[in-house]
Order: sequence, then C-alpha cells, then structure tokens
Amino acid sequence: MKCVIAVDVGASKLRLATFTGKDLKNKISFKLQGSENPLNYIKNYLKTFSKTCNSIGIASAGPLNIKKGSATLINYNNLKINYTKSLRRYGSIFVTNDCIAGLLAESRFGEAKKVKNAVYLTFSSGIGAGVMVDGHILIGKDGNAHEVGHLVLNYEDDILCGCGKKGHWEAYCGGKSMPNFYYKMTGNKVAFAEEIFRMYYENRTEARDFIEKCMKINAAGLASLINAYDPEVIILSGSVFLNNEKLFLKKLTELTKNYVMNRMPKIKTAKLRENSVIFGAGILALANGKLP
Ligand SMILES: [Zn+2]
Repeated sequence: MKCVIAVDVGASKLRLATFTGKDLKNKISFKLQGSENPLNYIKNYLKTFSKTCNSIGIASAGPLNIKKGSATLINYNNLKINYTKSLRRYGSIFVTNDCIAGLLAESRFGEAKKVKNAVYLTFSSGIGAGVMVDGHILIGKDGNAHEVGHLVLNYEDDILCGCGKKGHWEAYCGGKSMPNFYYKMTGNKVAFAEEIFRMYYENRTEARDFIEKCMKINAAGLASLINAYDPEVIILSGSVFLNNEKLFLKKLTELTKNYVMNRMPKIKTAKLRENSVIFGAGILALANGKLP
C-alpha cells in the first residue's frame, strides 16, 4: 500500500503524519509562535519518514501561488515559503490550500460524502473556505478562489485585516483579529479571542454584545457564501468554531436566514473535526495532486 506524508500548516499549528488512505500514523503536532519557520519542523520529519513515504501533501494557510507551490503566511509575519523548492529533495510535493484539503477530506469521509455542492468553512485564527460546485473544487488563477475571509463586509470601515486591506470579514471575526475589534468596540484590551468567549459565557454584558455582533457578521458572511455558491451543505470547522460549537451552530442557524436569498443548505460540523485538513493533505498526495 502506498504511503504518503500529510502536512497541515495552519495559522498557529503544524501537524504532520503518514497516511495510507485510511488512518493517520506517526502523528505529531507543534504549536508555532509567530516568528518560527514551520519548514524546519517539516524538514526534520521528512528526514525520518520520506525514506519510506516519498509523496508529500501539504495543506497550507494562504494566500498561495499554487503553480510555484509557495505560500505567504499572514500569521507568521507574512513569511514567504516555497514548499516545492525547499522540500523537493524529499519527494514529490503537492501543495493546496488548507480549506481545500478540509473539503477534500469531508467529501471523501465526512459530511460532503454524497453531495456535489459544498462549502467547507473554517473559523480559526483566520476565516477561510474550500468550495465545491457541481462536483468541482474551485481553484482560481493562483489557487485562491475561496479566500472568503477577505470578503469585504464593510467598505466604509478603516479596520485593517492581517492582509493589510480594509473591512474584511476576518478583520472582525478571525480569532487573531477579534481582540483588536473588541478593543475598537469596547475600549477594553484582551490578548486572545478565548478571553472574550469566556466572558461571554460568564454573561458579561460587553462580551455578550460583542459576540452577538460577531455572530451577525459571521451570519452575513455565511449568507454571502450561500448566495454565491448555492451549496447543499456548509461544513464548519476551525478551532474558534470547534471550541464554541453549540454557540456558533445555534446563532448561525438563527441569523443566517436573515441574509440568505437561496434555499438554505444544511449546516454541519466537520465530521473529522480538527483532522479534516491533514486527512485532505494525505488524500491529495495519494491522488498525485489531482483534485475533483
Ligand atoms: Zn484581508
């Protein structure tokens, strides 16, 4: 059975595993600080495992240049990485966006198994999506056809996104940006989005108002995806979502209807949860980089 290496370069976490089509083995993960280069960890892993598994699927946060196999990692101080050049001595390198990998895994093993139209949407440090329409995964000229975290939800606001532009969805409700938006709304400083959610569950008024507002913004974003892509199912994942799953599912189910023109799709939690992306990286390598 062919063995491949699956790599998930997330906005704050790196996961590595070997994969033969069913199970992940030799799993290892690192929480990365903003200044660390994930390549060093990947190379160390490949030194050991590429002797037996020499196809490597990499699911990376974007934006990407899919032809060059490179990415600019916004959450690592805009670190530019060329995966293909840096790693090809270890085997064949296949690069895709992390949310496309998540979608790929859910369409093979999870909530998009029997459908041809699906959106995989992740709420983590940033907000991103993978989109399948009529059985085809959308890619775009550079591999960024689904950078929905940078949909403009307020064209008049000066709030800056991690990408440097204004009014983007992620600038409000991406986990990394939430403290900045919270400060703008309330004048109070917090270091992490988790603190705002904790205060929300403690029934603190400011945090409750803030999260209610964020959920409206998330519902507006979600509705825009439903209006544009007409999916049968929206699959939600990402650490911010998974840590607050009940809250998100309740609010988004309630609020999204207010903004949706198309028939509502099902809204589901990713069946593979935090493992969707790394599974997808493995599936990509096993398929020699071919996407449906
Ligand atoms: Zn942006």
